[in-house]
Amino acid sequence: MSFERPLTEIKGVGPAVAAKFTILGLKTVADLINYYPRRYDDYSQITPIKKLTKPGPVTIEARITSIKGRYVRRGMHITEAVATDDTGSTRLVWFNQPYRELGMKRDQNYFISGNFELSHQHFAIQNPSTELSSEFPINTARIVPIYRETKGLNSRLIRNALKQEIAAIEQLPETVPAWLVTDHALLSRAEAIKAIHFPETSQQLETARRRLGFEEVFELSLASLLNKNELMAKHAPPVPFTEVIAKDFVGSMPFDLTNAQRKVVWRIFLDMQKSQPMNRLVEGDVGSGKTVVAAMAAVMVLHHGHQVALMAPTELLARQHADTLYKLLEPLGFADQVGLLVGGMSAKQKTTAREQIAAGKIRLMVGTNALIQESVDMRGLELIIIDEQHRFGVDQRKSLQAKAGHMPHVLSLTATPIPRSLALTLYGELDISVLDVKPPGRQTIITEIVSPNSRAQLYQKIDAELSAGRQMFVVCPLITESTMLAVNSAEKIYEDFSTRDFKHRKIGLLHGKMKPDEKNEVMQQFVDHKLDILVSTTVIEVGVDVSNATIMLIEAAERFGLAQMHQLRGRVGRGKDQGYCYLMMSDSTAPSKRLRALERSSDGFKLAELDLELRGPGAIYGREQHGQLDLRIAKLTDVKLIAEARAAAQATIDRGENLLHYPQLQANVRRLQAVTNLN
Ligand code: ADP
Ligand code: MG
Repeated sequence: MSFERPLTEIKGVGPAVAAKFTILGLKTVADLINYYPRRYDDYSQITPIKKLTKPGPVTIEARITSIKGRYVRRGMHITEAVATDDTGSTRLVWFNQPYRELGMKRDQNYFISGNFELSHQHFAIQNPSTELSSEFPINTARIVPIYRETKGLNSRLIRNALKQEIAAIEQLPETVPAWLVTDHALLSRAEAIKAIHFPETSQQLETARRRLGFEEVFELSLASLLNKNELMAKHAPPVPFTEVIAKDFVGSMPFDLTNAQRKVVWRIFLDMQKSQPMNRLVEGDVGSGKTVVAAMAAVMVLHHGHQVALMAPTELLARQHADTLYKLLEPLGFADQVGLLVGGMSAKQKTTAREQIAAGKIRLMVGTNALIQESVDMRGLELIIIDEQHRFGVDQRKSLQAKAGHMPHVLSLTATPIPRSLALTLYGELDISVLDVKPPGRQTIITEIVSPNSRAQLYQKIDAELSAGRQMFVVCPLITESTMLAVNSAEKIYEDFSTRDFKHRKIGLLHGKMKPDEKNEVMQQFVDHKLDILVSTTVIEVGVDVSNATIMLIEAAERFGLAQMHQLRGRVGRGKDQGYCYLMMSDSTAPSKRLRALERSSDGFKLAELDLELRGPGAIYGREQHGQLDLRIAKLTDVKLIAEARAAAQATIDRGENLLHYPQLQANVRRLQAVTNLN
């Protein structure tokens, strides 16, 4: 039976309901059965009515002995019923569900599940779900699956549709090799899918989750291992290691390399000497000195007369990198080979840049997306450096490399640390180096959670800093006021500050809806200290360096991710003065574990690990690829499952399994390969 049937072929699903399913992204039976519950309510225990004593979720099996609905006032309808089993009777109450009265049959046994609680001095089961007693209840008397719903399509309807497909689900073919199912004691795919929707017991639910989680990680690992094999079969131009160049570079720097930088740079030189393409990711916390590492790799390539492209996610960052590289490369005589190509340049500037690139005068091209969009002669490209790689989609990286016409070496940098064991699995086709030591003398940013009651005192403290000549970033979760969320928007804060709290200061507003020119201008004003305060959204998250900015105020801090706030905090205290990060809460409730962790720890890796733990399954890659690689079941912190699934992927390759024999697995793996690979 085909699983690609449209949902309208399911009994009870007409065109109107099918349209609702489409809103949830579900079009076919296959989509539906792969739509896992968001959570479950455990109503599996049936209690004799006599034993109902404590409030809480309960299920009874009983007959309805009386039922009556009435309006208690305008717009408030109550249906009251009495349910009776062999041991006694209890009350049922529904609010604003007038159809209940007609829907219930007398003298039939029902399963009735709901919350047993006190109402008007009487205990009653409130707003219960009911269904005729049967062997296979779906809404009551079981561990009940709750799905992500949409208006007009509740979990009840979704369960109904799924129930019609139980027979089909039981016939679901296995997707992974049979030996894998045996060796790892997995449920079959059919059993697992049936149990994820309609688990008989919580143990069965656990084994279903294990099977499906295993499969997710297995497919992801297999995809990255295959990508790696394909990459290793490609040729890249070797870049010989010239010792004197490295020595000169180190000698010309105003500081010594950290040990971590030394190690990572050495790995990169070794990688680039090979005729196989380097594909290395350097993970390093904010301020760990990734730029210097990239610069050394670049110089080695420039020395041999080839091209390097450095791509950054924002124009501002690209400009900053061009400046930094210019300074670093000046003593070595390579400074005039550094060129910039960003969208904000005039047509004339771009033409000049292109000409200089074509003439081989510019060999280190620093830019944004513009590097991809503009027609630039990149036939000599031997090294691509991608800063903040999680900000880029694979497509962007691929297009850059397509312009070279061959496979260059690729060096990716990221400040979003992923615990190493996980990174190995998730970025399996990458080699990973970690800059785990920060340059000496780095200050710790003083971090403090602030309740809105203490706003006034905080503003006083801040104003003293501003008077001392320092600057402040304010980051808000929204641009404009929202009626849905009671949080301060960037526009609101800007308004409050300019007219009241800091009206004697110069204040700028920066957000993603502004034109690139406007953004650059505001940012430049802040860099030049023409502004004291910059109110913005997370557009400033990435790599901006303003050494005079010492204060980061995060509004509605409870709304931000831990890793993201750590990044934001890294924007201040980059100079000699003490930095401060204030986490302003929306209300005066107790701060969450996440905020407390951020207050205590300045270790990006520890925070990332905690973030993963608290988030459970979730997004792996950057937001650009959001959704495509998210794990739905497996927890990134389940190190054992991940290690097992990864080993299984390696074993599958070692055994020489031909994916052609596993069409579904092959299709899934191909899709994942396309999202992750750089080949
Ligand atoms: P990130 O890893 O966040 O990109 P950067 O490369 O911007 O960090 O470096 C942050 C700052 O640290 C820069 O000002 C840089 O000059 C400085 N820096 C880098 N390496 C060292 C070092 N070994 N010793 C001292 N300062 C360093
Ligand atoms: Mg950086």
